[in-house]
Amino acid sequence: MAKTLTEMAAEIIAAKAARADMSQEALTEALNSTFNALAQLKCKEETQEQAELSTEVSDEEMDALVELRKTPKRSIRKSKVICLECGQEFKQLTNGHLKEHGLTTKEYRKKWGFTARQPLSSQNLSAKRRKSAEERGLGEMLKNARQKKAANAEAAGKKGGRKKAAKKPE
Ligand SMILES: [Zn+2]
Repeated sequence: MAKTLTEMAAEIIAAKAARADMSQEALTEALNSTFNALAQLKCKEETQEQAELSTEVSDEEMDALVELRKTPKRSIRKSKVICLECGQEFKQLTNGHLKEHGLTTKEYRKKWGFTARQPLSSQNLSAKRRKSAEERGLGEMLKNARQKKAANAEAAGKKGGRKKAAKKPE
């Protein structure tokens, strides 16, 4: 049976989390970017089709874009997300596209004042993903990954007799 994107993302992150020393934030960020990368693969065709349809930006569209940049949040709409750099419309704003503007999704979010957790996809798409992530018990999987990581760290500590963290001798 084919795996869902969420399952794949969770597995990848679980593998990373078990090895690397990741903070909760880093874990969330890694999950987001992994999930987005997978999602990008999936909607690549669709996005490319869309991009081909709307590469020409008219003066009016440019004006609308200038207006939109004043309230970046409005670029994320029910059925589309508008690139604040060029005004193209997408279901999901990808690293691949943002590269054309010399930006990563992270930099793009920062530039336009979005939080790191803001999905750069249409509200419909984000809602769908959120729902499926919840249904798949992603939180539970992450929790398990963290526990596994903690267990690994403990085991490593015992075995190697490495320095224990931050307890100062008097
Ligand atoms: Zn763009």
